[in-house]
Order: sequence, then C-alpha cells, then structure tokens
Amino acid sequence: MIELKQVYKSYAQGALAVPVLHNINISIESGEFVAIMGPSGSGKSTIMNIIGCLDRPTKGEYILNKVNVLTADEKHLALLRNQYIGFVFQHFHLLPRLSAVENVELPLVYGGLKKKERRERALEALDKVGLADRVGHLPNQLSGGQKQRVAIARAIANNPTFILADEPTGALDSKSGEQIMNIFTKLNEEGTTVIMVTHEEEVAAYTKRRIYIKDGEVIQDRRMVI
Ligand code: ADP
Ligand code: MG
Repeated sequence: MIELKQVYKSYAQGALAVPVLHNINISIESGEFVAIMGPSGSGKSTIMNIIGCLDRPTKGEYILNKVNVLTADEKHLALLRNQYIGFVFQHFHLLPRLSAVENVELPLVYGGLKKKERRERALEALDKVGLADRVGHLPNQLSGGQKQRVAIARAIANNPTFILADEPTGALDSKSGEQIMNIFTKLNEEGTTVIMVTHEEEVAAYTKRRIYIKDGEVIQDRRMVI
C-alpha cells in the first residue's frame, strides 16, 4: 500500500528552491488500477519518481508497505525498489546491444537468481506479453509496441507488487497503445497494482481511478463505478 501525506517537493536551482509539488495526499491500496493525469509540467513524473523510490519528498510523509521512505537509507530504498516496483517508461529504455531476453533478465541479477533461473523467468515474462517468438531480437529489430512489451516483461519478471508506468503509450500508435493497455488490464486482474501517467482519456478509460494533477496539486480524484 502507498500513502503520500502532505508531500511537498522542490528542486534546487542554483541558490533557489523551486517548488513543484504542494501538499499532495494520495493513498493507493493494493490491487488498484490508477491513472495520474494532468497538463505537462504539472508534476506527474515527480510524483511517480517519489512513489517509485527514485526520489524523495522535500517535506511530508511517504509510507510504502509500512516503511517510511523519507527516513530509509539509500540501501533500503534500493531494496524496496527491487522488491516491490517495476518501472515502465515512455521511451522504453532498453539496452540496444542486448536481445529482448537479455534485456529482461538483466535486472534479475540483483535478486541473486542463478543464470538458468533468470533465463526461465525472462522467457516466461516475454511469453506473458506475447513475445515468445521475438526473444532473440535486438531492440532495433522490434516495433515500438514490441519494445514497450519487452520493457513490460522486464518490469514484471521480478513479480513486483506495483507497476509504475510513466506515459507508457505516449510514443506509440493507438493500436500498439491498446495492446499495452490490455496487458496492464490483465496484470491488474491478476492482482498487480498498476499506476500510470497518461494525458489521453482513451488510455485512462482502461483504469478504475483517475487522479488529476494541476500545478503540483491534486485537483480531482475519481473512482470509476462499474
Ligand atoms: P510532468 O511529468 O507532469 O510533465 P514533471 O514532474 O516532470 O511534470 O515536472 C514538474 C516541474 O518540475 C516542471 O516545471 C519541471 O520543469 C520541474 N522539474 C522536474 N524535474 C526537475 C529536476 N530534476 N530539476 C529541476 N526541475 C525539475
Ligand atoms: Mg512527465
């Protein structure tokens, strides 16, 4: 479970501290499927980076599965990330010289798995995103949608509790975007908590809750009634 309480964030710019988030209060239960929406520059990625333990609030509280992230040391943060969180980015962030399966198994090294186990897990994850027939392909031999599916396989190979996806369909055509959203929907139905950023209503329509951010504040938090 995720709980942001009175979270403020500012970035240092020279001698100035530029405020970006103001009093953000968000709690997300396990199993939710959430879209964070809002204009460019409103603070969505900053919120995602805080939720994903890539960055810390300047002020406030962030509790992730009962751990206070603000007071955890770097080592503990890295542990939380590896244990709980899978990231998906707009521009995939695959290593160009590694094949699909090598990209997926790379982060599993940190979990201390043996090579054979890593390969098995990576192949399973690629199968889950419908890429069993592309495991040996290099990123530049794959379409944008396929690259994003490799990135999703990499994010889920470790069975994370949370998937955090920052504009995962932003660089894709609408058909590939639909495939990506179908995969997230399926993962969510299987119990993974999915939190994503998008500014497209058609993409957000797959989710069950929409949190709107403007100028670093939550202006609306809506759960869909089905
Ligand atoms: P969004 O994802 O909604 O487009 P961001 O969270 O990326 O917004 O950015 C919010 C604001 O914070 C923007 O004004 C941006 O310029 C600023 N910002 C983001 N990251 C940094 C950083 N590392 N250093 C300084 N300013 C930043
Ligand atoms: Mg952003």
